[in-house]
Amino acid sequence: MRYPFADLAAADRQMLPELIEAATRVITSGRYIGGPECEALEAELCRMHGAPYAVGVSNGLDALRLILKGYMQLGRLNPGDEVIVPANTYIATILAITDAGLIPVPVEPSPDTLNIDTELIEAAVTPRTRAIMTVHLYGRPAWDARMADIVRRHGLLLLEDNAQAIGARADIPGLFGTDMAGALGHAGAFSFYPTKNAGAIGDAGAVVTHDPELAAAVRALANYGSDRRYHNIYQGYNCRLDPIQAAIVGVRLRHLDDITVHRRAVAGIYREAFDGHPAIVMPADHPGHVHHQFVILSDRRDELQARLAAEGIGTDIHYATPPHRQPCMAGCASLHRHPLPVTDRIADTCLSLPVTAATSVDDARHIAGVVARLA
Ligand SMILES: *Cc1c(COP(=O)(O)O)cnc(C)c1O
Repeated sequence: MRYPFADLAAADRQMLPELIEAATRVITSGRYIGGPECEALEAELCRMHGAPYAVGVSNGLDALRLILKGYMQLGRLNPGDEVIVPANTYIATILAITDAGLIPVPVEPSPDTLNIDTELIEAAVTPRTRAIMTVHLYGRPAWDARMADIVRRHGLLLLEDNAQAIGARADIPGLFGTDMAGALGHAGAFSFYPTKNAGAIGDAGAVVTHDPELAAAVRALANYGSDRRYHNIYQGYNCRLDPIQAAIVGVRLRHLDDITVHRRAVAGIYREAFDGHPAIVMPADHPGHVHHQFVILSDRRDELQARLAAEGIGTDIHYATPPHRQPCMAGCASLHRHPLPVTDRIADTCLSLPVTAATSVDDARHIAGVVARLA
């Protein structure tokens, strides 16, 4: 591929000396679990999100699981409680909910935002609903006055899968004043998987929260359920953040504004090129979008993807099989209660175009021209 979908090594070239310095600092420190690198990353996450607590953890799925298990330990969630969630999310969101013994209640996305359709949430609320797990899919904040009203009226927990949207800003503040995605509600899960906007060189994640009790529960659960040395209040896990990854992610956060500016520039080129195109559907833009993915919808998606590959342009599909059609979810009754035609249709037509630091503005112009010609 002359224009790969995501070449991580190429995207890292500029930052390489800083990344090597960060990893070397840990390797020569003698502190290989926890310690100052993890604390520094947590402090930076708090500062940038206007939130009082952050807990570094092993990955994004564990961040989601620990939030839910933490609220179960605190008695705010109980087995069998319902969690409202967009039907078109990555499987991890659903796995965290079912793993905790909770019931995922899928709500269809809006074709205009590709995020949960907030007009449809109220109809999904039942007496067993305890939380909304909103997902800022592709980097677009999924939070508005309608969701805020439902959360407040029903006294729900607002949880966020912020794996794809670090640095995104919602257009209204969340429950605690800040408009930063991941800190809009009671707790947000972050992923630093290498392809995410702030990527580690392995697995890493974090929980950001406004709730001191949840922060303490997550920190204990992630460390064998231990609240102090050799004293275990929960039957916990080992889901700790690796300090090498913390140091690497710290470098990324220093560059995050530039990373986001570049992604937005590439997205802007695509948007301009596809504006009014008869065969390309683009979701509406959002000023706080961080473009983890730039996604178009095409009725001839598979053919378009193959023709782009023949022109040396790499693309990807996020996601071809939605959670309710995954084999592991065949027995999950709540995912099969209603048909999910909007989710199915997005899965059949979505195509992600290159948008990382390895795609230059000139590359993006070329890619945009070829996509517009072949679509
Ligand atoms: C990447 C991702 C996750 C999981 O993060 P990991 O760090 O890979 O465990 C969860 N939800 C969404 C929406 C993601 O994109």
